[in-house]
Amino acid sequence: MTTLKFKNNDEMPILGLGTWKSKPGEVYDAVHNAVKTGFRHIDCAAIYGNEKEIGAAFKDMFASGDIKREDLWITSKLWNNAHKKEDVAQALQKILDDLCLTYLDIYLVHWPVALKPDVVFPRSGNDFISLEDLPVETTWEGMEACVEKELTLHIGVSNFSIKKLDTLLQTSRIQPEMNQIELHPFLQQKDMLAFCEKNNILLTAYSPLGSGDRPKALKQKNEPSLLENQVIKDIAAANQCTPGQVLIRWSIERGTAVIPKSVNAGRIAENFKALDMSLSQADMDKISELDMHSRYVTGDFWTMSGSSYTFENLWDEA
Ligand code: NAP
Repeated sequence: MTTLKFKNNDEMPILGLGTWKSKPGEVYDAVHNAVKTGFRHIDCAAIYGNEKEIGAAFKDMFASGDIKREDLWITSKLWNNAHKKEDVAQALQKILDDLCLTYLDIYLVHWPVALKPDVVFPRSGNDFISLEDLPVETTWEGMEACVEKELTLHIGVSNFSIKKLDTLLQTSRIQPEMNQIELHPFLQQKDMLAFCEKNNILLTAYSPLGSGDRPKALKQKNEPSLLENQVIKDIAAANQCTPGQVLIRWSIERGTAVIPKSVNAGRIAENFKALDMSLSQADMDKISELDMHSRYVTGDFWTMSGSSYTFENLWDEA
C-alpha cells in the first residue's frame, strides 16, 4: 500500500479505517473486515467510546495470527479533559489498556480545547479551561513524555490551525509530525497543505465523505452533499467507479492520509479499491473548483455562551 513517511522512516499506510460513530456491536466486525480486506491503518480515539471493542478485535486477530501488531498502524487521540501535563500519559495508558496494546503508532491531541477533568462534554461555559490557563504547549510537554516513556512512537495534533502549529513548532522539543483535520473537496485547505509540506508535518483527511452519519445536533441546515455533488458523480461515472472512491482517491492524489469510516463490509471493500485507481489532472482541476471552505465539523460545540473559545480563536480565521 502507498505510505506516508515519517522523519525516522516509519511508514503510515495512506488509507485507514475511521471509527467515529462505529457502534460497539458493529466495530469489532468492521475492524476484522477492514484488516481482511487489506486495511493496515485504524483511526481510533478515546472519546469514540468503542476502543474496548476495537481492542477485542486486535487481541483476537493477533492471537489467531491473522495479523501482527507491527503490521498495523494504530492512531488514537487524547481527549480534551486530560490536557493537564500530568494527565496526558495516564489517559494514554487507559487507551492502551482498552485497545489491548503496549504502544500506539501515533497519539494526537484531539482538539486545541481544554475541559475540566470531570467533564466529558461541556454543558456550560464553566466546563472549559481557557488556553490562557492551560496552553497547548503545556499539554504538548505531556505528549513528549509519552514518547519518552515509549507509550507511542509518534505524536501529533488534530484540528490545529497554522498559527497553533507554528507555536508548537517553535516551543516543542519533539515536533508535531501530524495534523489530522477535515479535508475534502468543499474544504481543501491549500494553505495548510503548503505550510505542512514546508514544515515536515503530515496531514490526515477526516470526514472525507462528508460524515453523513453525524447526529442531527451536529448538522447544519441545508448542508451540501459531497457524495451527491454532480461534478463528483460525473467524474465517478467517467472513471467507472463510485463517488466515494473519487473522494477517497482525491485525498490520496494530494498526498494526505485519508480515513473513511464504514461498518459495512461492501463499502469497506469499495473504499479500499480507491488505492488501485487514479484521477487525471483534468479531474483534479475540476474538483479544485469545488472548494468553498465549508466545514461539516464546525466545532460549534466548543463555542457555547460563557466559553472562552470562539470560531475565530478555534480556527484562527476571521
Ligand atoms: P466519513 O468517513 O466522511 O463518512 C462516514 C459515512 O459515510 C458513514 O455514514 C458511512 O456509512 C458512509 N460511507 C462509508 N463509505 C461509503 C461509500 N463508499 N459510499 C457512501 N457512503 C459511505 O465521516 P467521519 O466518520 O466523520 O470521518 C472519518 C473518520 O475520521 C472518523 O470515523 C474518525 O476516525 C475521523 N474523524 C476525526 C475527527 C477529529 O476531530 N480528529 C473528526 C471527525 C472524524 P457506513 O458506515 O454505513 O458505511
